[in-house]
Amino acid sequence: MSTREEKVNTLDKSVLLLKPRGFCAGVVRAIDIVELALQAYGPPIYVRKEIVHNRFVVSDLASRGAVFVDSVDDVPAGARLVYSAHGVAPSVRRSSEERNLRVIDATCPLVTKVHLEAIRFAKSHSTIVLVGHRDHDEVIGTVGEAPDQTIVVSTPDEAETVQVPDGDVAYLTQTTLSLDEAQSIIDVLKRRFPQIQGPPAKDICYATENRQIAIKHIASKADVLLVVGSQNSSNSARMVEVGAQRGLPSYLIDDEKDIEHAWIETARTVAVSAGASAPESLVKGVLERLQSKGFRDVIEVEAVEEDVHFPLPPELRQAQLATLHGAS
Ligand code: SF4
Repeated sequence: MSTREEKVNTLDKSVLLLKPRGFCAGVVRAIDIVELALQAYGPPIYVRKEIVHNRFVVSDLASRGAVFVDSVDDVPAGARLVYSAHGVAPSVRRSSEERNLRVIDATCPLVTKVHLEAIRFAKSHSTIVLVGHRDHDEVIGTVGEAPDQTIVVSTPDEAETVQVPDGDVAYLTQTTLSLDEAQSIIDVLKRRFPQIQGPPAKDICYATENRQIAIKHIASKADVLLVVGSQNSSNSARMVEVGAQRGLPSYLIDDEKDIEHAWIETARTVAVSAGASAPESLVKGVLERLQSKGFRDVIEVEAVEEDVHFPLPPELRQAQLATLHGAS
């Protein structure tokens, strides 16, 4: 054993459990929608794309009768279909209508807000520069509102070189970006296009912002950061980047099995958080694993208070009431 390891083993090892972490209001609503639809109408309930970007959530719902499909074309005519929290392009809505699908929309209201802004800018004949990741489901859906007027930029370098036609220009952003990186891209756009218009309030959502603030808050106090979340979860990946940019070795893990001994063997303080689509049960598994490695003290650190809820679609509110009455 090295001197450093001996020293670490004789010190108290602790976990800083960040708050807020895990499920946001949009994810809770989307999962509730699928669960209530299964209860109210029975399986199968078709879901276009992953309802949220977490493989444990998806496989749990699949085991209860949700059928995940990539395209509306994969859904039998007349069946019930849920749109994921990431939203859809108008072309998807048209395809659903053509197939007479009974649609339940689980698009997060904060994603819908960006769609409405895109529609407004498109109607005023502006070119829309959408800051985001072009292969992400949310960005694909937003671009679909005005495909001929929207250009996606992902980096400050792309913002430096993007060419827009003469006329009005506006920018919007994906909801789950790094706050700092999005701002650096917006700064470039504002410098290059001084008349550029933006959304009335920023598009990056409260959950993305709060989870990043919590990481910045503890970055100098921890030796390692573990973020629970799936690889395709944008907000989780951004949390890891925020930690790494502050010099904190930061890792994205699906669950406790992904923790590598080398990451924590010399650490005294491990910070743990979870992306907006990661269930708390996975965080518990991570804490148990860390406890077995000597990290017995768990200190919850709340950087920002968070208390946001989104209402269910009306038809499922009725189903929820019926379920509650049935259980009483
Ligand atoms: S991360 Fe933000 S935009 Fe995405 S579902 Fe959650 S609240 Fe909505």
